[in-house]
Amino acid sequence: MSTLRTAVTGGAGFIGSHLVDYLMSKGHYVKVFDNFSAGKIENIRQWMSHERFELYKVDLKDRNAVFEKLKDVDVVFHLAANPEVRLGSQDPYAIYSDNVEVTFNVLEAMRLNGIKYIVFTSSSTVYGETNVRPTPEDYSPMEPISVYGASKLACEALIMGYAHTFNIKALILRLANIVGPRAQHGVIYDFIHKLLADPTQLEILGDGSQRKSYLYISDCIEAIYHLFREFTKSNALIEVYNIGSQDWITVKEIADIVVEEMGLKGVKYRFTGGVEGGRGWRGDVKYMLLDVSKALEKGWRPKHTSREAVRLAARALIKEVGKC
Ligand code: NAD
Repeated sequence: MSTLRTAVTGGAGFIGSHLVDYLMSKGHYVKVFDNFSAGKIENIRQWMSHERFELYKVDLKDRNAVFEKLKDVDVVFHLAANPEVRLGSQDPYAIYSDNVEVTFNVLEAMRLNGIKYIVFTSSSTVYGETNVRPTPEDYSPMEPISVYGASKLACEALIMGYAHTFNIKALILRLANIVGPRAQHGVIYDFIHKLLADPTQLEILGDGSQRKSYLYISDCIEAIYHLFREFTKSNALIEVYNIGSQDWITVKEIADIVVEEMGLKGVKYRFTGGVEGGRGWRGDVKYMLLDVSKALEKGWRPKHTSREAVRLAARALIKEVGKC
């Protein structure tokens, strides 16, 4: 692929910074847009003085700043968002504004500045509680059970409307749980921090039987890049793919892996019981496994299972905590 001029919104965050590393390693130009609400400068420090790299410290809710600065790129990898699913029940507006308003601003900047491609990191949560698993992309009805899932679905709809109206080409990727180094949220991160505070016991939200699919970060980044490359070769205006591993793992099994990787013994598990039949919290989808055959047909293949992904991520995050 020829050299691309790329923008990565949320490029200082977990997935974004790994995508930046990958794009830089492939010789592309990268502009990062981040307000550092969750992103960290350490995640992108290695590129700061590189001639192909630029950092824009911008709050993407500031429409004028976005219009002014988000330009002269071929593609926007739009990752900036508030990914805290749990926050939706306490502060729905934060989820709405960080996700939907920001996506609207990004699309408007793309329209006004003539940017051709958007790659959007959507989420498995757009499906809600499904009765078909693995869940394919054409599953219906789409009925999110969290404000976060709803915000992602709203973003997808906005992107599709802009694609048809303004001929912006859109690749929408519905990600399973992504895990790995630099993550600052999610069940593995939570467990490690709880166990550091008290290595004798672990509070587990829900009944521990929630079962979901986890994908290692390198597999996720390869999917984003590979599917985008395939997308640019096609005439499609919009493509939607599920991205995840082909197996799943329970929360209790994740706890076992984290405890083992931390070298702890005799940890007492305290299940909160959760809500509505064992969900961790209101809006927590209890069972999630995505049908990824469409992405597999395009030549992408994850190298790790959910179990391997969780173990690798736990190991990396424990090491990171040790460095703090
Ligand atoms: P993250 O919080 O690490 O990264 C998000 C980044 O966006 C952060 O650097 C944050 O500072 C930035 N940001 C947030 N609001 C902003 C704003 N108004 N202006 C500028 N920057 C802003 O989260 P992540 O896990 O890396 O998630 C990246 C994307 O992938 C998100 O869109 C998320 O919804 C999606 N996603 C993540 C997962 C997962 O398991 N991590 C799963 C499905 C989808």
